[in-house]
Amino acid sequence: MHFVFITGGVASSLGKGIASAALATLLKSRNFRVRIRKLDPYLNVDPGTMSPYQHGEVYVTDDGAETDLDLGHYERFTNQSAKQTDSISSGKIYSNVLSKERKGDYLGATIQVIPHVTNEIKSFINSDIKNEDIIIYEIGGTVGDIESLPFLEAIRQIRNNKKISSALIHMTYIPYLSSADELKTKPTQHSVKELRSIGIQPDFLLCRAEREIPSDLLRKIAVFCNVPGDQVFQAVDMDSIYKIPLMLHQQGLDQSLVDNLNIWARSPDLREWYSIIERLDHPKQNIKIAIVGKYTDVVDSYKSIEEALVHAGISNEAAVSVVYVAAQDVIAKGPSVCLEGVDGVIVPGGFGERGTEGMIRSIEFARCQNLPFLGICLGMQLASVEVARNILGLHTADSLEFAPETTEPVIFLMEEQKGVTNKGGTMRLGSYPCVLAKSSKAREAYGKDTVMERHRHRYEFNSQYRSRFEEAGVVFSGTSPDDKLVEIFELQGHPWFVACQFHPELVSRPMGAHPLFKGFVFAASKKKQDKKSTRHTE
Ligand code: GLN
Repeated sequence: MHFVFITGGVASSLGKGIASAALATLLKSRNFRVRIRKLDPYLNVDPGTMSPYQHGEVYVTDDGAETDLDLGHYERFTNQSAKQTDSISSGKIYSNVLSKERKGDYLGATIQVIPHVTNEIKSFINSDIKNEDIIIYEIGGTVGDIESLPFLEAIRQIRNNKKISSALIHMTYIPYLSSADELKTKPTQHSVKELRSIGIQPDFLLCRAEREIPSDLLRKIAVFCNVPGDQVFQAVDMDSIYKIPLMLHQQGLDQSLVDNLNIWARSPDLREWYSIIERLDHPKQNIKIAIVGKYTDVVDSYKSIEEALVHAGISNEAAVSVVYVAAQDVIAKGPSVCLEGVDGVIVPGGFGERGTEGMIRSIEFARCQNLPFLGICLGMQLASVEVARNILGLHTADSLEFAPETTEPVIFLMEEQKGVTNKGGTMRLGSYPCVLAKSSKAREAYGKDTVMERHRHRYEFNSQYRSRFEEAGVVFSGTSPDDKLVEIFELQGHPWFVACQFHPELVSRPMGAHPLFKGFVFAASKKKQDKKSTRHTE
């Protein structure tokens, strides 16, 4: 078993998560059992309570962990499910140490960062290891931050143990200075110096740059950073993240890594990736999808939805572009202005009241204009409110989340959520079964009777309204096996009006688009073609 540590320097947001995921997929394609885990330096116990404005989307695993969005990249690239035990934060490490201290486990010792915190980090790194050949550990944050020091110290200690086989890849940034018309290596040199000052010598450098780094510059970096010349690689900006595995492979990173770890490996089978890229590069049409949400000015807030749309594009031979519509704008400008020219509308998950009326107006617009609509979690709850208000005529219909006094609570608090006051880790989280109704769009899209889908919510559809909804043309096409919870509903007579209580985007993959996204994008492309042909015949 081998460890690969990935650290980052110079700047954050270099795409360390994607690079780790791309490397993992290359190793997997060489038949290794690979796993990726993340150590994050922040003091939150997990990202569940963090605003998407701060940290992008919260990714949820099958077993109900609320994690960093990088775990989404890991899953999408490796096509394997991450687990609770695949990520940890400093907050969780400290909370473990403190609870041991309270229990008296340290037998009166003075608790210190070294050795108590570093031992806790090492025990995470060594915990829950099954039969993996290679485990990649991505260290969040940037070398030089105070918060990441204990992680780096733990790694230094692990790498000092000669019995453990490991490699360390340091990802840095090579900025381009336009005034000098030059790529600059100094920040990388300094970042490696910083790493070496805490006792860590990287084996590999992966240099992120906006333009290709000439080979003489790569050699210079190698010399100044004391890394072998053939172990400095570049990660140049790509037009799709799914091109990164092949870009790294073409430079020989995976081969060099297995050589360095001294393990024999067969050559990788990358046919699937070549075919994904072939389809990505040759779309037959362009589709425009609007995401009407609350966190639309932060690029990473809807990461998994964006990716799921790319996957659905790959499987429908379409290039899907996303237009973000701030839900508040829909009230001011009107849905026909905000949604002009789009081929489909998504209302994603979210929390709190702000923007919800704009989302409801957008849902109404999509319903009345026969525009394909996909509602996800909050989007499903607001679709229920829209249908209740505008089809059933229940004008005061609302969700108890925003209108605790409403007389028509079509969305209400789940039984097990009543009395819950703690915000962290207390929602309905993780994978649950959903039974699909015969001859529904959902059943047709999935092609099976029961599916597992991931959840993250406190509220749910109020089943007392079910019969009234059914009379109005709603099909409850997905329910919990005991039929108590509504998981999917759809509208009869609409090209694609499907709303789900779970988050389908979390399990969509480039090699297998999620059925609901695939069906939605298919309906959007059909709508676009129909529009075109009516224009031609007019
Ligand atoms: N705020 C809603 C709830 O808690 C929806 C959550 C979500 O969209 N993830 O039920």
